[in-house]
Amino acid sequence: MIKINYDISIKNEPLKSLKEPQSLERSSSSIFNKSGKVISKSQNVSQTLDIDENDKKLSELISGNYDVLASIDWKTAEGTQQFLDISEKFSSVTGKSLYDEMISRYEAGKISKDNLQKNLKILLDMSEFSPNDQDSDEVWTSYYDFLDLKDIVLADRFNIEDLKKLDYNNYFDKVTRPYAEKFIKQNEEIAINVRKAKQLSNYDVSKSQIAPLLPKITNIKTDANTIIQKFNDYKYQINYSDDAINVKDGNKQYVIDFKKLLSQINDENDKNSVKKMIEGLSAPVLIDLAVEIDTIKVCNDPDSATYAQYDGKDNVITINLAKKDEKNAVFALAHEIGHSLDFSKHEERNMVTFGFNQQFLEISRKEMTKLDGKEDYEKQYATTNPVEMFAECYTLLNMGSSADSNYVLATYFPKTVEYVKKQIEIQRNLPTSERNFIGRESSLLERLSDNPSW
Ligand SMILES: [Zn+2]
Repeated sequence: MIKINYDISIKNEPLKSLKEPQSLERSSSSIFNKSGKVISKSQNVSQTLDIDENDKKLSELISGNYDVLASIDWKTAEGTQQFLDISEKFSSVTGKSLYDEMISRYEAGKISKDNLQKNLKILLDMSEFSPNDQDSDEVWTSYYDFLDLKDIVLADRFNIEDLKKLDYNNYFDKVTRPYAEKFIKQNEEIAINVRKAKQLSNYDVSKSQIAPLLPKITNIKTDANTIIQKFNDYKYQINYSDDAINVKDGNKQYVIDFKKLLSQINDENDKNSVKKMIEGLSAPVLIDLAVEIDTIKVCNDPDSATYAQYDGKDNVITINLAKKDEKNAVFALAHEIGHSLDFSKHEERNMVTFGFNQQFLEISRKEMTKLDGKEDYEKQYATTNPVEMFAECYTLLNMGSSADSNYVLATYFPKTVEYVKKQIEIQRNLPTSERNFIGRESSLLERLSDNPSW
């Protein structure tokens, strides 16, 4: 069975911690995963640490109140910085490492064994970083000692004598400090990238070199439920009702029948939310929806970065209603309809990517090379692969804005956008009987298993 999903995701999900191994995997939508960069948990990496707060914690530690360690948010870059600062100051004031001092205090009977065990656990958690393959055997040995140390501290029958055979301070110098510094630096770079990416999402494409390719759309209301939409040189009449949207293009008429299209949505409020989103689409996108798409489903996932998804096997769009009020939501829906158009028959092949339209691939791959060596934040969603490139060009050309690629398309892909514009025009001039979802003909279904890449 073939199942191909394409989704549009916007990069606003919380970044994850370097210290958690699973965080190295990211959804394919991330602009940061392409260069293999590591993602940090903290988006807000302001390095303005509260000095008073640090000094207060330091003096608590010096006086032997180790419970204050629990207040350091060590998974974040700020917490890691705080831990390094406090550790360094502690040694310079007391002449001992925090670790050694904790053990001395316990041996002098000043803190209980439970208290020592509890706070050593926190200290070791804060200190833990894994070396990498390039590190020397010496570094790795100190790491294995550290893991043994952790086992001892975590053991039910925690034995203080066992600890003395292992060298925490050596591990701190060889691994903790250099890796914590690296972690903080990576966070700064990521925060800068996130800020720059955010700035790019406000890019004004109407003033760019591709402005002449963008649609000019004006709406004139003719009665309570009807508008005339002028889309470049075309005129469409759109009628909105509770059951359907009718689009007239000259003497051709297209119907979006909600009863059929939304038959798998049970909740009335959900149905109304989807109808409202559909009403935000331009006339040509409404026509594509009427011709190409069988079913729209919904889900509700506030934790997901995905706005909507197209399933190329069943020809179904799923909308994440948790995102329905966000700025990009309607553009994300148009983007999915763009995917369905790409899966549409086109002169015995499908439209651009899955028919392996060599001209499209050639033009877009050539323009893609202009991004070689550029920063990740410039590589907006359209650059993920040729399939997303088509869907984002489609959205830009039919809605006046892509979901999340205006800057990159306008700056690096003028020829690709122009080519897609021509292809869409050819497609629109085909009789609807010749432009249906390719998967309806089983003989063509196998084409969908090929996934073109850059
Ligand atoms: Zn997509």
